[in-house]
Amino acid sequence: MANKVLVTGGLGYIGSHTVVELINQGYDPLIIDNLSNSDVSVLERIEKITGKRPEFQQVEMRDKEQLQEVFWSNNNQIIGVIHFAAVLLVGESVEQPLHYYYNNLTSTINLLECMNEFDVHSIVFSSSCTVYGNPDNLPVSEEAPIKPAISPYGNTKKICEDILRDASVAHPIKVVSLRYFNPIGAHESSLIGEFQSGPPHHLVPYITETASGKRDKLNIFGGDWNTADGTCIRDYIHVSDVADAHIDAMEFANKQSENSFNVFNIGSGNGYSVLDMVNSFEKATGIKIPYEIVERRPGDVEAVYADTTKSETELGFKTKRGLEEMLKSAWDWEQALAKES
Ligand code: UDP
Repeated sequence: MANKVLVTGGLGYIGSHTVVELINQGYDPLIIDNLSNSDVSVLERIEKITGKRPEFQQVEMRDKEQLQEVFWSNNNQIIGVIHFAAVLLVGESVEQPLHYYYNNLTSTINLLECMNEFDVHSIVFSSSCTVYGNPDNLPVSEEAPIKPAISPYGNTKKICEDILRDASVAHPIKVVSLRYFNPIGAHESSLIGEFQSGPPHHLVPYITETASGKRDKLNIFGGDWNTADGTCIRDYIHVSDVADAHIDAMEFANKQSENSFNVFNIGSGNGYSVLDMVNSFEKATGIKIPYEIVERRPGDVEAVYADTTKSETELGFKTKRGLEEMLKSAWDWEQALAKES
């Protein structure tokens, strides 16, 4: 029985963790990636963890012919697609909006066209809680209104959801869009995690780099938000839990009837402040994090965390890993990377 899953962007942070879980659960992932923000060495790392080297093809999804070639050579074997491939830096998207719109929209449209041509029906899409903006009610449910995007990157997520919804009306596809909250941490083996070039873009790598001495302190963006301790609140989720959610989502999609479109929040349901994160990191590792409260960061949302009712009841998804495990795994990964270099 065919059990091949096409994973676009499968060498990236969430993609690589999902490939590991797919292999562990008996699926046969086929990774395509343009290597713009990843490296083929991830394949060896996945092989070390799972004992199996996943199939890989370097593909530029903006070029439809390259993508068609993948579908052609795997005709009747692909049971579903998990679509991670995207450019994803909020700040960069403000500077290069056309690159962001062109890349993220074209690759999604080409993928949907190939799925139509080759009769592949299920797709799981990487969306983001950024579509909720500053939500009016917390926890935020999938029913909450979509807010105008704060960045071109966020807007590509909203527009891709619109494209997928419209495509699901006209074509016999089954779409599941996963709105991630804040994925952090790394695989328990410390063999895969988030590789980054240059300064980090998110809170937890700043915390681990401060712990390692690469930075002398953590800057906390704003201490005067309307929250219990004055710092912003987010819903952090272990990347391996996010990976598990994709398997649940793909199996859910395959059970739906054609012309279906479903969205799910993928978070833990817990809101933690920046100071909670610092304190939990110190508890999990015993390392003190010097910090300073600085100006608010432009575009930051005060508080957002997920209503997980729908993902729990309909998808059967529930996080397994708690905050200290997430932060400890992030620290283990930082140390493993430091040993390698
Ligand atoms: N943050 C911070 N210092 C940093 C990086 C992030 O105080 O060096 C804060 C940021 O203002 C936000 C939270 O940490 O309130 C999570 O930020 P991140 O960029 O990781 O995620 P996002 O804002 O995209 O949810």
